[in-house]
Amino acid sequence: MDFEIVYTKGQQAFRKEVRDWLDKNIPQIGELPVDGQHITPEQDKAARAFRGKLGEKGWLFPTVPVEYGGKGLTWEHAVVIDEELSERAEEIPHVPDNSSLAIPPLLIYGTEEQKRRLIPPMARGQVTTWQGFTEAEAGSDLAALRTTAIRQGDSYVINGHKLWQGGPYPAENWYLICVTNPDAPRHHNLSAFVLPTNLPGISMIPQQLFVYNRHQVFLDNVKVPVENRIGEEGMGWQCVQATLELEHGGSGRIGLPKVMDHFLSYLREAKKAGRILDALERDRVVDMYINAHVERLFGLRNYWQRATKQWGTYEGSQLSLWGKVQGLNRSKTVLDVVGPDALVNEEDSAAKVRGWLEEHQRQSVLTHPGATIEIQKVIMARRIAMSATQERAAVTV
Ligand SMILES: Cc1cc2nc3c(=O)[nH]c(=O)nc-3n(C[C@H](O)[C@H](O)[C@H](O)COP(=O)(O)OP(=O)(O)OC[C@H]3O[C@@H](n4cnc5c(N)ncnc54)[C@H](O)[C@@H]3O)c2cc1C
Repeated sequence: MDFEIVYTKGQQAFRKEVRDWLDKNIPQIGELPVDGQHITPEQDKAARAFRGKLGEKGWLFPTVPVEYGGKGLTWEHAVVIDEELSERAEEIPHVPDNSSLAIPPLLIYGTEEQKRRLIPPMARGQVTTWQGFTEAEAGSDLAALRTTAIRQGDSYVINGHKLWQGGPYPAENWYLICVTNPDAPRHHNLSAFVLPTNLPGISMIPQQLFVYNRHQVFLDNVKVPVENRIGEEGMGWQCVQATLELEHGGSGRIGLPKVMDHFLSYLREAKKAGRILDALERDRVVDMYINAHVERLFGLRNYWQRATKQWGTYEGSQLSLWGKVQGLNRSKTVLDVVGPDALVNEEDSAAKVRGWLEEHQRQSVLTHPGATIEIQKVIMARRIAMSATQERAAVTV
């Protein structure tokens, strides 16, 4: 069976338009660091300016309707844009942004006024957004969160603490879940908000990790207008579900895990230098290659399901689970085949493939973002009726 996508003449012409535009607009700021944490403030600034241009062009969120700041393009256009951006990913500095998680609940549950006011700055790349979900006592069990937003007249007053927010540089915008009715039952006590991160009472400290640095954020009597609550009070869990459905793998993905390309580059160079893999190593590399392509096909299937508005069940978590487990397997294969050189980082001239193999060793153990391996299994069990607790997929766009 041939799963490959066939492109129409119109799509090929659009691809050329995207390529030509990227050639002209990708910022020329020298070789970027492998580890996103080492991006300099100048590179971050250039990256944000590029994002702004992409947003102005309508290609940052191409399928978002024009009246909400997108381009109203088809998913076929979005596929071409995604492919071209991922092809050039190593030239474009990464800007951590979770706007893609905040826009869907706004589209589903926001009022018309909110869609026109809150979505365009995200869709046009004028702001980046943090996803304010996790707290010290509320990670996998997100509904246990304790940050409160208590209504006082036309505002809510927010108090609490969020963990694991954003990237090395602060975002301007925050998609935040809080308890708005401490007396209501679990899941019915929450509301979602979109707010600026520079409001009085918000303070943050960096949260150092061994990859993908984040921030802890404290909220001390932060006043937010009622108009910034997404949908009705008490609809927070529905917003969370719409977001998590996509974050747990439902948004799908295009392309192979990038470590595969880097590892194949390493193997080609090693072969030229006389390194011959033994039979067991060859088997493991071929397994890794096949499993990476299985991941790619799961990603494509989910992308297609989303684009064609098909109701998913276990598929999002299947992609996420497969990717996380294979990430761990890949790092073991790379380490066993390459040896200790796979642990040499980009700052050392002995690093292999500019340090990409080392970065993957650190990245692969981070299986917590977007739900852990165990939680993906729990979701799948519930959705294929293997668990006493049944669960339906949430509404997505
Ligand atoms: C790099 C990184 C980036 C992140 N980015 C964000 C972000 O931008 N915004 C945000 O809000 N959060 C973010 N997170 C937080 C992430 O969503 C949480 O780490 C995740 O939900 C797990 O929560 P926890 O860390 O509290 O672990 P816990 O929930 O305490 O889990 C600890 C362990 O117990 C297991 N476990 C828990 N419950 C069960 C169960 N019912 N059955 C079986 N096993 C279970 C888990 O699988 C895990 O192994 C990020 C985390 C990381 C590491």
